[in-house]
Amino acid sequence: MNITDKSQHDPVTDIKMPGSHLRSALLATEEVVGKQGMAVILRQAGLDHLIDNYPPDESHISGDYSFDDYSKLNAALLSFLGRGGRSVAMRIGRKAYKVGESQFNTAVGGAATAALRLLPESIRLLKGVELMKLAFDMMYRQPGTHIVFRVEDRGDRIAFIAETCGICAGKVSDEHMCQLFAGLLQEGVVSTFGKEHAIQEVECRANGAPACVWEISKIAKE
Ligand SMILES: [Zn+2]
Repeated sequence: MNITDKSQHDPVTDIKMPGSHLRSALLATEEVVGKQGMAVILRQAGLDHLIDNYPPDESHISGDYSFDDYSKLNAALLSFLGRGGRSVAMRIGRKAYKVGESQFNTAVGGAATAALRLLPESIRLLKGVELMKLAFDMMYRQPGTHIVFRVEDRGDRIAFIAETCGICAGKVSDEHMCQLFAGLLQEGVVSTFGKEHAIQEVECRANGAPACVWEISKIAKE
C-alpha cells in the first residue's frame, strides 16, 4: 500500500478527538506490535511526543488530539505491517473497541443496547449500527466542527458512511486504508449481538471517494 499526504489541506484533519479514543488505538496497536514496534511506528508517524506518553483516558475533547494524529498513526501502522497488514489492522481495531467499550456504553446507555436484543432480527442489526453512529455523534459533539456519519439500509447489507473519516484524514492511498475502523465496527456488532458479521470497506476517501463506506452483511457468519 502506498500512502502519501494530500497535496491540499484536508479540513477533516482538524477535527479534535477524545484522548481516550486515540489512547485505545495506541494500546491496541501496542498489544499487537509490542513496545519497540510501537516506538518505531510513532517515530515514523511523526508522533514522537506520544512515545511512553499516551493520551489520558478521558472521554471529553480537550483539544490536544485530532484526526491528524489518528490518521498519522494508522498510515504508519499500515506501512510498518506491510503486505497482509490490513487484516492485522482490522484485528487492532477490534481490540481498540474492547479497550474503549465502556465509553461507548456510557454514551448510548447500557439499557439501549440491552433493548436492541429484544428487537426482531430483521431490524435489530440496522438499529444497532444506528446506535453506534449515535454514540459517535455524542462523543464527538464539539463547537465549531462536527463529524458527518450516516447509516444506510442497502438490502442485504448495512452501510456505515463517514464523510469525516478520522483514520485516513489528509492521506492519499492506492488502496482502501480504514480497516482499523472496520474492526471497531465489527467488534461493536459482536459485542452487541454475540455474532460475527462480515464487514468490508467498499469506498475510501484516501482513494478518491467522497466518504469512507463500510458494508456490514446482515447475515451472521455461522
Ligand atoms: Zn477513511
